[in-house]
Amino acid sequence: MVRPGAYVADATEGILRVEDLPPPRVIERSRNFKRRTCPECGRSAYRLRTGARTLHDLGDPLSGRPRDLHVVYSQHRCRHCHSYFNADMDDLALPKVRYTHRVVHTAVRLVVEDGLPYRTASWHLWRDHRVFVPFATIQNWVEAGGKKGGASRRNRLSGRGAGRVQRVHRRR
Ligand SMILES: [Zn+2]
Repeated sequence: MVRPGAYVADATEGILRVEDLPPPRVIERSRNFKRRTCPECGRSAYRLRTGARTLHDLGDPLSGRPRDLHVVYSQHRCRHCHSYFNADMDDLALPKVRYTHRVVHTAVRLVVEDGLPYRTASWHLWRDHRVFVPFATIQNWVEAGGKKGGASRRNRLSGRGAGRVQRVHRRR
């Protein structure tokens, strides 16, 4: 029998072991250059070494798999002013943030525009976008942006689903 409104739980609902979650699709990105312009003095600086970081992006709702960007980047040392710096990758993510801009913007919109409580926003990001963001991280982003949604306090839900994914991820 076909019932368009029938409730179907998320495929990961009830999964307790992280190995059972769908593995991420890893996309390689390069910000690796021989030379870059020194942000301090404006002169050319050679590559000293390379580094790598993994950024969690919005996942693929069709395959149900998360999506990670693996970014290889160059680290430079300026011979003129002796400063160290990394190749620019601000187009992908802010420094020290483990998520792409797309993830941060989506998370903040869920709270600020839709008034979702942080735990519910966390679960929503996993269920519909296959990216796991701890609710406290979302809270930090929203508070750093200075736009706290008034609805999020009034409308706090239990966030059971979010807690479940969190327990799974904590075991890593
Ligand atoms: Zn310099």
